[in-house]
Amino acid sequence: MLLQIALRRKASALTALVTAAAIALLPMPAVHAQAKGPPVLRDTETEQLLRDYTRPILRVAGLEKQNIQMVIINDGSFNAFVADGRRIFVNWGAILQSETPNQIIGVLAHETGHLAGGHLSKLRQQLATAQTQMIIAMLLGAGAIAAGSVQRGSAGNNGLANAGAAAIAAPQEMIRRTLLSYQRQQEENADRAGVKFLTATGQSPKGMYETFKRFTSESLFASRGADPYLQSHPMPAERVAALQEFASTSPYWNKKDDPALQLRHDMVRAKISAFMERPETVYRRYPQTNDSLPARYARAISTYLHGDLRSALTQIDALIQVQPNNPYFYEVRGQALLESGKPAEAIPALRKAVQLSNNSPLIEMLLGQALVGTDNKAYTDDAVRILRAAVAREPEAALGYTQLAMAYGRKGDYAEADLASAQAAYLRGDNKTARELATRAKTRFAVGTPGWVKADDIVAAKPPRN
Ligand SMILES: [Zn+2]
Repeated sequence: MLLQIALRRKASALTALVTAAAIALLPMPAVHAQAKGPPVLRDTETEQLLRDYTRPILRVAGLEKQNIQMVIINDGSFNAFVADGRRIFVNWGAILQSETPNQIIGVLAHETGHLAGGHLSKLRQQLATAQTQMIIAMLLGAGAIAAGSVQRGSAGNNGLANAGAAAIAAPQEMIRRTLLSYQRQQEENADRAGVKFLTATGQSPKGMYETFKRFTSESLFASRGADPYLQSHPMPAERVAALQEFASTSPYWNKKDDPALQLRHDMVRAKISAFMERPETVYRRYPQTNDSLPARYARAISTYLHGDLRSALTQIDALIQVQPNNPYFYEVRGQALLESGKPAEAIPALRKAVQLSNNSPLIEMLLGQALVGTDNKAYTDDAVRILRAAVAREPEAALGYTQLAMAYGRKGDYAEADLASAQAAYLRGDNKTARELATRAKTRFAVGTPGWVKADDIVAAKPPRN
């Protein structure tokens, strides 16, 4: 399942930061300016892979206890960044464009370097200091203008007044340069930290170098200055040269990725291409002549999305023959049936996917959706049980609450149904509907019960308790 949702953003320092950094200094994509936060992709297979990529690196960086989340941004350009000290954001474009696990792992190691170095908060401090400096400089400039106008009044010479105006304009440029050089230094520190983490985990820094090198050479030609990664990561040639110099001394420089990991990586790239790109592009990347598992995966998904269900199922079943314990083949089989209006037929495949994935909550939500979708009341209790378990572990996916609301409605439990609908609306960022539904839920629960308290939180627009 590849879910496209909007990430509900807590009122964080992010907005303030973006506003303050009108100098376009910080690694923020433009989508952050939107009230609902960046659109996010959810997919168990991809998230699992990214977690496996980052876990060892976070461990050697001393961040394993911080519960750092990986968030996949719905954007086909290359970008990866940290925004709030607890999440690493990666565009799907960065995964798709990374030909080896090592290339994207290198980028993630670099981002971990930013996290471990506390760069964002340091930059924020610098910014605050810079603003203070700017205010002082502007006050001085204003003083000079005042002095200048007095001077002109007496001598008819406006030289000093001009100097005052220049003093107002100059500090911004000076501060911009100071911050840029500070940021450049942070980038170099993150490179060094990233290489250190890769070496400590026995991995090659070559992929990091290859990726950064690619951006330097692209920037030479391209007026493609719009590439967000280049904007967030100034990549002067000296930096890449320095990286090459210390990275190439790594004992693991020539170490290749494990073939099993390369296959998982290619499977995820195939899936991303199939879900996110146009069918023509998918077939150009993965033509019929390509008999590899990733190519067959991409074509099977593209067939279910844009073609014929029977043909898609035949292709998916052939994949299951090759890897009978791959949960994601069953997941896509179930999803194809579910989205073709065959929820009852989807149930066995989704149950298998849940079991093989060790109860992935996102897949449980699909199973719950299939159970509810059958209109068979015999499934209702099972659906409620599975969906409750899913939302408890995955409280930020609206789909789980939407399905839970339907299951409760079918049981005739309208208090819980209203509460779950309110939670779904809240997660979608629709506060008005969330408040209305939560207000109605409150009238249906006994005062002070857990359901009433959760509904009350939503009415008061506090993050709902789980
Ligand atoms: Zn960086």
